[in-house]
Amino acid sequence: MLASYRRVSAICAALAGAALLVNAAALVVSATGHGRLVWFSAVSAVALAVLLLLWRNGYRTMRKRVARADEESRRVIDSAQRDALTGAYTRSYFLATLNERVHRGSSMPVGYFHVDMDHLKALNDGHGHAAGDAALVHLTATIRRLAPDAVIGRLGGDEFGVALIGQDSKQALTRLAERILEALRQEVKIREHVTRISATVGVALAPDDATNVDELMSRADLALYCGKRSGRSMVVGYDPDMLVDERHNRFVQRELRAALLLNEIKVVYQPVYSIDGMKLKSYEALVRWQHCHRGTIAPSEFIPIAEQSDIIDRLGEVVLRQVCADLKLLGVPIAVNVSPVQLRRPGFAASFAAILDEANISGDRIIVEITENILMKTGGVETENLTALTRFGVKIAIDDFGAGHASLEYLRSFAFNVIKIDRSYVAHLKSGRADRAIISALCDIAQALDIEVIAEGVETQEQLDTLRQIGCDAVQGYLLGRPGSVRALVGNSLAAA
Ligand code: C2E
Ligand code: CA
Ligand code: CA
Repeated sequence: MLASYRRVSAICAALAGAALLVNAAALVVSATGHGRLVWFSAVSAVALAVLLLLWRNGYRTMRKRVARADEESRRVIDSAQRDALTGAYTRSYFLATLNERVHRGSSMPVGYFHVDMDHLKALNDGHGHAAGDAALVHLTATIRRLAPDAVIGRLGGDEFGVALIGQDSKQALTRLAERILEALRQEVKIREHVTRISATVGVALAPDDATNVDELMSRADLALYCGKRSGRSMVVGYDPDMLVDERHNRFVQRELRAALLLNEIKVVYQPVYSIDGMKLKSYEALVRWQHCHRGTIAPSEFIPIAEQSDIIDRLGEVVLRQVCADLKLLGVPIAVNVSPVQLRRPGFAASFAAILDEANISGDRIIVEITENILMKTGGVETENLTALTRFGVKIAIDDFGAGHASLEYLRSFAFNVIKIDRSYVAHLKSGRADRAIISALCDIAQALDIEVIAEGVETQEQLDTLRQIGCDAVQGYLLGRPGSVRALVGNSLAAA
């Protein structure tokens, strides 16, 4: 339409020009005395000029209208590409935009960070979905305020991608992300509740870390994952070593799945003795991976990797089934270690009980050991699982007490039956007066609460004597017995029976 207007305007201009020429000619003619012709040509020139003016005005108005329509259609298209809640770009549009910038051969650097809000589920559960939504809006607004030039995309529920076109410094990018997290940590009122928001950020750069969008995003995601594992609420820059770790993890996961099928997962047992009379009280079941080429692999090498997937659940089931089978031979209760990841599964207690039932083992012959790092929130899944287990008669022990973040407050959160004092306290019993005082105070508290205290890692007679003086209930450690197979513990004949 604009083009045809332009064409008509050009014709008008040509006509006006022609009119002027005619006019000039008329003036010449008038000089020679042809008066009527003079008037006619003057009037036609004015008429054409007016026509031209009208066309020009019309053209301007039309141009404005077209520009407005253009703007409107751009706005409609733009809003269709945006997430209705946060105003960030939709995943597909964000990816398309990023794809235009990041590709092999592109010289334009692009800084990218992957933001994942921490604990959105807890916020939704605690204060309702509207509060969760408001938190997401606040998160996006904070990013937009501190990085006004950034292209922001909502990649999933609580995940955002942030791209800074032209950014070539990972340090600057990391600092920016840190400023964003700092701003989020400030108190904010969300639906009448004063709260703080926390997020974890993974940072990667193109073309330094990646030459295409998939690579860029998965590398930032890997950095983010490392941040989540190291405790969240932090910014982590991608490092090529992470990729090596991840490949290793994937390799171990594949091998572990095979190990479960090939019966390479074995259980050994370490005895626990009562300090009075050194009577055998129970055994602790400790898992081993009997690898066909690499020999025996310690749990510290594969449990953390198993915990990254459902392998930990399958591993836990295999260990428990073996424990049920060995209970009949060992004769005393057996403690099994349960990972925080297992305890977080809503159906954990039920499947645990089903395995005991299947093997016809009563719950009071089992002790579940959990590390003190487990989040013990009243009404949380973890507490529900533990409570359900106690209903089956299973005893619950806090493992490695004192090694992590546990405080005495932890003892209030659940009615534990056993405390296992971390072996680092036992190791320093001789030199550290504080360690002795702590164990002693803990024994007093435990006695008042009717909780049994087991000291782990007893390696010397001196440690054993001191623990006896302090008043510990039971002991476990290399001095008294190393972990061994059922066959080694009860003798070949009995095990074969
Ligand atoms: P943990 O539960 O604290 O187990 C005790 C660890 O201390 C065992 O190591 C044991 O062999 C070692 N130990 C026992 N006495 C002594 C001692 O006197 N001195 C020293 N220096 N060490 C001693 P292990 O078997 O390598 O197990 C390491 C950790 O792996 C366990 O620590 C537990 O957290 C985890 N784990 C073992 N089996 C399982 C399992 O079936 N499931 C899960 N989720 N975790 C397991
Ligand atoms: Ca343990
Ligand atoms: Ca322990």
